[in-house]
Amino acid sequence: MTGPALATLPALRDVIARHGLSASKALGQNFLLDTKLLDRIARAAGSLEDATVYEVGPGPGGLTRALLGAGARVVAVERDSRCLPALAEIAEASGGRLEVIAGDAMAIDEVAVAGEGAHIVANLPYNVGTALLVRWLTDATWSPWWRSLTLMFQKEVAERIVAAPGSNAYGRLAVLAQWRSTAAIAFTVNRMAFVPPPKVTSAVVHIVPAVAPEGVTVRTIQAVTAAAFGQRRKMLRQSLKGLPGALSALGTLGIAADRRAETLSVAEFVAIARTLDAGRTEQAER
Ligand code: SAM
Repeated sequence: MTGPALATLPALRDVIARHGLSASKALGQNFLLDTKLLDRIARAAGSLEDATVYEVGPGPGGLTRALLGAGARVVAVERDSRCLPALAEIAEASGGRLEVIAGDAMAIDEVAVAGEGAHIVANLPYNVGTALLVRWLTDATWSPWWRSLTLMFQKEVAERIVAAPGSNAYGRLAVLAQWRSTAAIAFTVNRMAFVPPPKVTSAVVHIVPAVAPEGVTVRTIQAVTAAAFGQRRKMLRQSLKGLPGALSALGTLGIAADRRAETLSVAEFVAIARTLDAGRTEQAER
């Protein structure tokens, strides 16, 4: 750990007992206590020396300590006020490198608190994890304000993020993530590593923004994938028929209308959305 004061903090198990942090299911609380695993998650984010990290849901602060240990400045937002005294102890030992914000990560102005260029690292509460990821991937401007995402998900969600066409896990989340970023599963985490253990295996996903193709709006790509995967077993001629201009876009692009959503590559979804957006711009200019 960086700094002698951090090294003298009590063991996480003692912190949890002393502050009475019994895990709340409603807040998606499954704590990590294994310092080797917590250091491994921090390492998956890349070099954090002198970087700023935005952490959602620090809880008793295990991952927060690992991030500080890796040399980062951390801005952490926690909804459970019971955790604040434990986090204040870490802030005290951090030499001014930890700022804790009491609040709801779904409602916060992240850029205002963490600043442009922050890395986001979190063992996410499962009940809001996907919603937060979608929020981070649907920034109106690209490149986004964040530099990278290193996030714990249920393994099934992690697989939906990195899924390839043709697989069962391939759907809206894969297209959105792979349109705008490069995403990979760093490693899986046994459920017994958590206190209390969740029902399923987890996985850490590392995501870095890509140069997303121009001429495509979030709204349109979301509309195309919602329609296509809303009826994923149906042919595109059926699933896209309610989306104005979509069937003629398929014709223009030479994409057979008897294909199903799960066979389309991310590039093909992007091409359909771009054709629809171009059509709209032409209409507006007329
Ligand atoms: N980071 C800790 C760890 O690894 O042991 C705790 C992880 S636990 C899975 C999720 C944490 O997110 C809990 O501390 C919970 O109180 C917090 N949380 C849940 N919903 C939240 C929200 N909307 N905004 C901020 N924090 C939230």
